[in-house]
Amino acid sequence: MKYFIGNWKMFGIPSSINILNKINSFRSRDINRNKYRVVITPPYTLLETFAKKFKNKKIMIGSQNCYQKNQFSSNTAAISPYMIKKVGGKYTLIGHSDNRAEGDTNSMLKDKVKFALKNNLKVIFCIGENKLQKNNNKTFSVLKSQLNKVLEKRFNKNNIIVAYEPIWSIGTGKIPSQKDLSKTTIHIKKVLKKIFKKNSPLILYGGSVDENNVKVFKQIKEIDGFLIGGASKSSKKFIDIIKNYYR
Ligand code: PEP
Repeated sequence: MKYFIGNWKMFGIPSSINILNKINSFRSRDINRNKYRVVITPPYTLLETFAKKFKNKKIMIGSQNCYQKNQFSSNTAAISPYMIKKVGGKYTLIGHSDNRAEGDTNSMLKDKVKFALKNNLKVIFCIGENKLQKNNNKTFSVLKSQLNKVLEKRFNKNNIIVAYEPIWSIGTGKIPSQKDLSKTTIHIKKVLKKIFKKNSPLILYGGSVDENNVKVFKQIKEIDGFLIGGASKSSKKFIDIIKNYYR
């Protein structure tokens, strides 16, 4: 099963549901529909209406983050995994580089993963090196540490998906070479197998994925799908990514 996950970031108002309607109607006619899953992570403001509208459809709705506590607390503006689950969210991103840059630490991320799983949300855990780390050949050690400091064997690996998103690639139009990405994905899988003993969670690639470059990633068999930012705000681009992947 492949995953096409659209991260809307700070985008969307109620009428943006038209984008999902178009993706859903494409998917329901697509001969390849049983080979992949579509997840969209709109902002918190749209979670409930979108989740309700697509409750019995094949598009799943998730959040872009969650707070590192279980249910309710006195933290102003915080949204817990319980609250996301209760409005119909099925997935949550955790550890997106935007949130790491705003102060999410490994110990906060570990609590986020723990409470998200406790509330039966599937976790899309984001990791990735920045440009300086890449230039200093630190990619493998950075990824290893991001994984080892947060994920644990007792977490259910079937409810965790790891998204490898090199920070230098997010929103820049730059993508890793096929060779580098293949090596990095194999490295991530190795680290995950060590953590989870034998089996690894699924691994996605994210960073400037579009309808043209998606074919390059198709060659890398270790990649189980994509986390798509900018291009997921257009139904046409998002649909073309899926179409071109299976072409
Ligand atoms: C992201 O922010 O998760 C992302 C992958 O963005 P983009 O596709 O725009 O690079």
